[in-house]
Amino acid sequence: TSFAHFGFDEQLMHIIRKSEYTQPTPIQCQGVPIALSGRDMIGIAKTGSGKTAAFIWPMLVHIMDQKELEPGEGPIAVIVCPTRELCQQIHAECKRFGKAYALRSVAVYGGGSMWEQAKALQDGAEIVVCTPGRLIDHVKKKATSLQRVTYLVFDEADRMFDMGFEYQVRSIASHVRPDRQTLLFSATFRKKIERLARDILMDPIRVVQ
Ligand code: AMP
Repeated sequence: TSFAHFGFDEQLMHIIRKSEYTQPTPIQCQGVPIALSGRDMIGIAKTGSGKTAAFIWPMLVHIMDQKELEPGEGPIAVIVCPTRELCQQIHAECKRFGKAYALRSVAVYGGGSMWEQAKALQDGAEIVVCTPGRLIDHVKKKATSLQRVTYLVFDEADRMFDMGFEYQVRSIASHVRPDRQTLLFSATFRKKIERLARDILMDPIRVVQ
């Protein structure tokens, strides 16, 4: 597979070319077409596999379609991950690729300023990258709403479980509309993750790095 197979438009291809990626990684070759098709997906992949771009590129396509279908406020895509560092990394990638369509990303994580994050959320963004507890805090305070979210990603799900975030992860899934597309990434596929996948994904396709 080459990048041309994904059918991305020139704006996104331009940024991918600037990144000097010569070809898609295996998780991208398998995962991108599935995510673009709108199906739910389980990706068993580690850091370094290129999994972040595998969910960001289809997310951008999804957002552009959805923005037209349903104009309004609040994020269209939410990416939930375990740590502040990962949050910042994913947010940086969202900004880099999101420039193709002038999409805005906000990062909200534990340890950062609630007030500054709330202000950023209220200024508006199509993409929110978050740690689970902090997103819930902002929703409770009505700094943002999950009403318009139709693309939901859980990254490093096994690590979120190890850190004790199972309840928060499930709570977020239950607050996002059921007609969403959900992607779940995990380095391992243990019983607990399998159970989560069964509960929050619909007829998912599994991709192994
Ligand atoms: P990730 O597994 O998403 O954390 O990505 C690991 C690193 O690989 C990041 O620095 C990405 O910028 C980079 N990367 C992602 N996709 C590709 C690709 N197709 N070719 C080369 N590097 C890539």
